[in-house]
Amino acid sequence: MPRHIVCLTFDFDAISGFISRGQTSPSWISRGEFGPRVGMPRLLALFEQYGIRTTWFVPGHTIETYRKACERVVKAGHEIAHHGWTHRPPAELTAVEEEAELLRANEQIRRLTGKKARGYRSPSWDLSPHSVRLMLKHGFQYDSSLMGDDYQPYYCRQGDRIELLKPAQFGKETKLVEMPIQWCVDDSPHFEFVRTATTIRQGLMNANAVLENWVDDYLYMKQTTDWGVLTYTCHPFIIGRGHRMMMLEKLIRKCADNGAVFMAMEDAVAEFRKRKK
Ligand SMILES: [Zn+2]
Repeated sequence: MPRHIVCLTFDFDAISGFISRGQTSPSWISRGEFGPRVGMPRLLALFEQYGIRTTWFVPGHTIETYRKACERVVKAGHEIAHHGWTHRPPAELTAVEEEAELLRANEQIRRLTGKKARGYRSPSWDLSPHSVRLMLKHGFQYDSSLMGDDYQPYYCRQGDRIELLKPAQFGKETKLVEMPIQWCVDDSPHFEFVRTATTIRQGLMNANAVLENWVDDYLYMKQTTDWGVLTYTCHPFIIGRGHRMMMLEKLIRKCADNGAVFMAMEDAVAEFRKRKK
């Protein structure tokens, strides 16, 4: 029997992403605040209506700043996973700083949910050469920051040697499962308008045009695989706007009409491991 899984995942950055980029004026902060204040309740209501369990990657900063909002997500039955403490990508940290972030946020997750995170997603999707080792050391089951596949989870390698003037030497496969992601199925580059002193990111795409791409990514999985997982990544402060909430609901209906099984990422990981045995 073919089985096509969809993981709806939410990076609950709230204001942490802006802070990590030095954007701390009241207007930047309010932009992130829209997530816990407006986006999150809308999303929880939508998933309750459709009976869907999702995964929320929550920075420790969000847990310590918006505790009540995070409690609502837990109470609604969704999975809480790790997304750093600050929103700084591991590739920009030392190994010591990276491990300190892992531990501090994991302790917050334990206090919030009663258990440590099983999954990790790096802020801005940029792992360091230490990340896989640290995740294994601290008991993580899966990562969701790499782009080496689209519909098939795979096992992460450790110890790649990548140097400019040499052929790449790939390290050994580990037990850490990768749940691959990509910017094309992330709401941020499509929708988020960003203007700084040096850059403009246009964003603000027509949500129905993005919907068409996202549905086709699901339909292509259905056409070409017997079993697969497609992960969509959204941010409550971005997807929570009216026209995008309507898009998300249309996506859910279209995938469901075409046989999608919606599940939290930890459950998709468990199913992958079972199939791999
Ligand atoms: Zn994030």
